[in-house]
Amino acid sequence: MQTIKPSLDALQAAAVKSALVRTFLDLVSVNIQADENVPESPSCPGQLTLGQQIAARIKSTGADLPEIFTTEQGVVAASFSASPGCERAYHLALLSHLDTAPDCSGDNVKPHLVKAYPGGPIELPNGLILDETVCPELKHHLGDDIITTDGTTLLGADDKAGCAVLLELIDAVQAGLPHGPLTFVFTVDEEIGRSAGLVPLERINADFGVTIDGCELGELDTATFNAGACTVTIHGRSIHTGSAYGKMINALKLAAQFIQELPADEAPETTQGLQGFYHVYSVSGGVEQAQVRMILRDFEMEGLKKREDFIRRLCGRLGERFVPQFKAQYRNLAAVLQEHPLILDLCRQAYAQAGVPVREQSVRGGTDGSELSYRGLPCPNIFTGALNCHGPYECLPVQALQQSFNCARSLIQLTAQTVKPQ
Ligand SMILES: [Zn+2]
Repeated sequence: MQTIKPSLDALQAAAVKSALVRTFLDLVSVNIQADENVPESPSCPGQLTLGQQIAARIKSTGADLPEIFTTEQGVVAASFSASPGCERAYHLALLSHLDTAPDCSGDNVKPHLVKAYPGGPIELPNGLILDETVCPELKHHLGDDIITTDGTTLLGADDKAGCAVLLELIDAVQAGLPHGPLTFVFTVDEEIGRSAGLVPLERINADFGVTIDGCELGELDTATFNAGACTVTIHGRSIHTGSAYGKMINALKLAAQFIQELPADEAPETTQGLQGFYHVYSVSGGVEQAQVRMILRDFEMEGLKKREDFIRRLCGRLGERFVPQFKAQYRNLAAVLQEHPLILDLCRQAYAQAGVPVREQSVRGGTDGSELSYRGLPCPNIFTGALNCHGPYECLPVQALQQSFNCARSLIQLTAQTVKPQ
């Protein structure tokens, strides 16, 4: 079958035409892969470098200079006071994250571009085939210009696409886009679950926000999972194999037994839509002691509690060698948004103004908004246009990225016209 080959020339031509594409490509050239094995934040120095570049860029352009601050962990925030006449508007925060996923290399990313995608399989420069079997959404992007990888790394559109949108919005604000009190936040280590906790909300003091970190065109994430983690420690008994008869208890075999007892039809690979799951992602240890690490997910808080109870009962039944330990992770932001509906209304209006049909969605995961909402910043998630994130098949239709920018710009305008009751 005939394949389409993305090219560097087409990418350069697109960059000449679009400032948004140029900004995105500038960001993509910096490697900022998060590393969960590093306990400090940021988990890689590239995040500090990119944060400094961003702060310098904001300071170098336009007459309307924001107050910029950078935290020790590398979070960069730029706050603009309201433009004349919009002083009484709500204070909106827009957030994106600097880091890319640890799952796949983000070093030496070499983007390419397919001009006016005609449909059919795309052959990446290293021979990988990007087609509808790996990316069913491609059929929604006929005629679009699509940025791809060269097949050896991820693209980093998650979330450098969001960062590019924020930087272009800052340019628009500095060029005179009317706005209420407004803060742009570039967070760190989102991909390893730390970023929301590092955002200095008291200092930013916004009324509500949006993260620009979603995927396909039109997506508006209004719900997330409730999430918990569990580590089951299993105590065995190690004896020399020569004299183990009747005495050795192999913790690794007990770990296998434990995993076998989890409901097979409640795993990530066997659930979809609004179904929750148990997911074992690591088994480690030896004969004497083993650890099974897992995450629990459910859209209902009650459902998450039931899953924890199930693990407790299972450990109880298997015996005292099994010791579970639970840790709360994040909560479904839908409950907070129900109490603070204004930001969702404004998002819906912004999509309509930009001519983007809205698809409200429950994310089978978390967003920074899950934690930020509970810390006092109601915060749904807007699409960036990126597809197939976290791997070499990641791609970004330019027209969808442009629409992400258009929706966010409309959101700034609409919020500027919305007076906060005193
Ligand atoms: Zn992301």
